[in-house]
Amino acid sequence: MDNHTNTVIIGGGIAGCATAYFLGKKGIPSIIVENEGIASGASGYSAGGLNPLVGHGIPGPLGPLAMYSYEKHLSIWPELEQETGINFDGRIIDLLRIGLFDSDIEQLSGTLNTFNDIDHPNFKAELLEPQDVISQYPLISSNVKSAVLATGNAACDSYKLTLAFANAAEKLGALFKSDEVIGLNTKAEKVIGVKTRNGTIHCDSVVIAMGPWSLNASKWIGMHIPVTPLKGQIIRLKYPLIQQYPDVEVPSLPEASIHPKLDGLIWCGATKMEELDEPFSSKAPTDRARDTIMDKIVQIIPSLINSELILQTVCFRPVTEDWLPILGSVPHLENCYLATGGGEKGVMLSSAIGEAIADLIGTGVTSVPIGNASVDRIPVSTGNTA
Ligand SMILES: Cc1cc2nc3c(=O)[nH]c(=O)nc-3n(C[C@H](O)[C@H](O)[C@H](O)COP(=O)(O)OP(=O)(O)OC[C@H]3O[C@@H](n4cnc5c(N)ncnc54)[C@H](O)[C@@H]3O)c2cc1C
Repeated sequence: MDNHTNTVIIGGGIAGCATAYFLGKKGIPSIIVENEGIASGASGYSAGGLNPLVGHGIPGPLGPLAMYSYEKHLSIWPELEQETGINFDGRIIDLLRIGLFDSDIEQLSGTLNTFNDIDHPNFKAELLEPQDVISQYPLISSNVKSAVLATGNAACDSYKLTLAFANAAEKLGALFKSDEVIGLNTKAEKVIGVKTRNGTIHCDSVVIAMGPWSLNASKWIGMHIPVTPLKGQIIRLKYPLIQQYPDVEVPSLPEASIHPKLDGLIWCGATKMEELDEPFSSKAPTDRARDTIMDKIVQIIPSLINSELILQTVCFRPVTEDWLPILGSVPHLENCYLATGGGEKGVMLSSAIGEAIADLIGTGVTSVPIGNASVDRIPVSTGNTA
């Protein structure tokens, strides 16, 4: 492999692969260095939901970026599927939000307003009476007090979407290297090379897209990268009787959304438990997470007690304190870019992240509404960089 490229991207998750894709569209060559395998982190195990209307910072500072990225996904997905032949199950979905307890009712009216008030053709919601819910979805708990059926969120198989970005990038000239990055070579406030276990790749720019491992790059760039891992677990069940149901959730039963997927399984979760007894690197699923999810979902659909557990997965979200990603070039290393901190929305945000970073590398400016997600908000400290 040539040991020089325009851009080295560290990390083959969805942020890194989307960046390689958008760079490729501009004719800018890149090498993705990934030490565990493409989409081996959260990008390969997420719930694959694209919900731009709700979440930390929405409405608020993340709102415009979330909506931009949602729309960007929908506009590029057909081409991406056609170019790669990878079907990543991209689609618009329905969400059934159910009120089982009095405390849910106010939340449901909020959902109704959120989906109906936005001036966007994809989104709308309707209120369902309990008898409507039971007649349309007979396996839902008979304790249902009210429900909202909301349409407009998107969903995908994030593992396959990441592979599609990678594959399309490769067709546009990107290269992949299985290796671990261990440092950067810098000269006169510029990165000139990326040090891996097996050598150095010389480059004109570098993108740190290391997801929850981004903190490890702090010492390379002399700046604390405030990204921490938040563990999440999902159980995948076999239960064909609700395969045609929309996504189902109850406001007062968080971490237990029910997602019927096109792979024929029902994905349930995801937990956001801080398992302090578990090291960050542990990908071992826990009984506690499984039982927590099961206890909640059988309150929503009691017959799920008869489902078969097929798989339980673990992954780590790259989270920042303000729940905004960190995007842009490092102030004192201008050809070094951060593309991290997608948090619990990193799949949805990946198109915006990839396009913004590619724009900045290509021309120094971007029209992607990065706003408060800019790296400029992070204090540069040369002290504690770990
Ligand atoms: C349970 C769960 C459910 C989720 N559901 C959703 C959802 O529904 N919708 C949504 O939008 N988001 C969701 N997310 C969040 C989303 O999955 C993440 O934000 C996103 O995948 C992060 O992508 P990334 O590329 O930044 O990081 P990652 O996917 O973690 O990729 C980082 C990569 O960098 C590599 N790497 C790290 N250090 C090095 C090094 N030194 N050298 C080489 N390679 C290195 C790692 O091996 C890894 O492959 C969920 C997350 C979890 C955990």
